[in-house]
Amino acid sequence: MRRTPEEIAKMRRAGRVVAEMHARTREAIRPGVTTAELDKVAREVLERRGARSNFLGYHGFPAVICTSPNDMIVHGIPGDHRLEEGDIISVDCGAIVEGYHGDAAYTAPVGGVREEARRLMEVTEVSLQAAIEAMVDGNRISDIGHAVQTVAEGAGFSVVREYVGHAIGTAMHEEPQVPNYGPPGRGPRLRPGLVLAVEPMVNAGSPGTRLLADGWSVVTADGSLSAHFEHSIAVGEDGPEVLTLP
Ligand code: MG
Ligand code: MG
Repeated sequence: MRRTPEEIAKMRRAGRVVAEMHARTREAIRPGVTTAELDKVAREVLERRGARSNFLGYHGFPAVICTSPNDMIVHGIPGDHRLEEGDIISVDCGAIVEGYHGDAAYTAPVGGVREEARRLMEVTEVSLQAAIEAMVDGNRISDIGHAVQTVAEGAGFSVVREYVGHAIGTAMHEEPQVPNYGPPGRGPRLRPGLVLAVEPMVNAGSPGTRLLADGWSVVTADGSLSAHFEHSIAVGEDGPEVLTLP
């Protein structure tokens, strides 16, 4: 679906709220803080901006952010888990403004982290940047995932297959899906007005995943570290526009 300039303006406003949730939760990340405290910080941003949560109540999800430490890939539930020096933590945030959705995620260090963890976060963020650069008029959906895979595997890491990005608009998850892997030149053409949430999940070890007994938390099958970066991005006449920025 192609969004009008008026719709994209609303998504930009939702995206700014998400960016503020990122900024405030990032400031709160330190050894000793619990993931529930990060959720509280994010809730305060939503309340202050008069925005609604697209995560809270989604298939029964109980929080406004997902918090996924270390070998957890995505969908971790905030709670009394306490962050420790040397951890990495993925924080996924979303907001609805005037019926339009924003969705973005980052992974951050807790204090000082090992070199492998630092490099994993850096490569995952660079893979997202490469994906954004592939979001130009006339390219195809699979060019995005191909860009992610090229960067991530080129650095010796692996790309998660079971969870993917998605179009976004009046719902958080719209069609088409956006895999983070695959050959270039396949799938629907990218046209101005298409808005996608692109979200590489990159593992330090093998790409396999495992769902924990809580029914939400997804971890790496081999226990290796995982990082997750996401932005909501519009294909524009003059190139891609990242909507989830301050
Ligand atoms: Mg997300
Ligand atoms: Mg998403």
